[in-house]
Formats: sequence, C-alpha cells, structure tokens
Amino acid sequence: MPVPEILQLGNPILRQKCAPVKSFGTECLNALVSDLRETLYDFKERNGFGRGIAAPQIGVTERIIFVHADQPLALLNPVITAHSRNLMTMWDDCFSFPNLLVKVKRHLSIEVRYQDVEGRKHTLRAEDGLSELLQHEIDHVNGILAIDRAIDSRHIIFRSEYEKWIKHSKFSAVSF
Ligand SMILES: [Zn+2]
Repeated sequence: MPVPEILQLGNPILRQKCAPVKSFGTECLNALVSDLRETLYDFKERNGFGRGIAAPQIGVTERIIFVHADQPLALLNPVITAHSRNLMTMWDDCFSFPNLLVKVKRHLSIEVRYQDVEGRKHTLRAEDGLSELLQHEIDHVNGILAIDRAIDSRHIIFRSEYEKWIKHSKFSAVSF
C-alpha cells in the first residue's frame, strides 16, 4: 500500500492546532500510528534523514507524533511539562520543507507527558537529540513549524547550500 503524502509548507492543515486524542486502543488509532511509522521509514529510506513525524503532516489534525531516535515511540497528546533553561543552537529540518535548513534554539532537556495507544500515561525525560526532536514534533501539533523558530531570516537556507558552504567548512563558526 502506498504511504500517505507528506503535506508541504503552505498547506493550511500544517497551521492548525490539533485536537486531543480521546479514543484509545481502537483499530483506527492503530492504523494511524502505523501510517505515521511507515511514512517516516519511507521518507528516511528515500532521503537519508528523518527521525520524527507528526499527524498533521499526513493531513490528520490529531495530537499524535511518532519518533524513532534510539527506538520507535508513538506519543499521543504530548505536553512539555518542564524544560531546562539551557538552550542548544542547531540546524533543524522538516519533512514538510525538506530542501531547507533552519537554525533554531531548543531547550537542552525537557520533560514530556504523553499517552500511549492504549491511553496509559507516561512521563519521559529527554536530552540533546531526542529533546530537540520532541520539541520540533510537539510544535507541529500546535501548528508551529521550525521556520517560525528561526533565529532570524538569515538562518533559513537551502540544504544544498548548507552542504556546500557550512557542513565541512570553517565558515560555519564565523558566518553563521
Ligand atoms: Zn517537521
């Protein structure tokens, strides 16, 4: 079965505040989580990057995200309940504008409360890569995109230019 299409920047669905999940353990919910997982893995296989996806990116305005950092995890109704004052600065990317990179600041560590597909409540402490990934995906279910978090407009660039000028270059420290 073909994977769902990933909505692109400009699609108004990406700007909606998503609705909480209220019914758990349903076939419909399992199918949706499975769609998110397959879409993530398909994107990663085709593009060589990708660790997370949010339901609105496949056109479903519900508060569901799926991440695969060290292991696959579906988070329903995720909420950031605490965060470090310390921030990290990093180049972020997104399936909804895969050709762009955006420099953003994120909290170094966060605490997230969420429910699993059965509705059980969990608390997760995340640092570094998982922390910034969850902040990115939780923004999605609130209609917020990484470009909204750009340090300024100079820090929205094409991925191709990042590869050319910044990735392996001494320019990164001084120019950006
Ligand atoms: Zn994204």
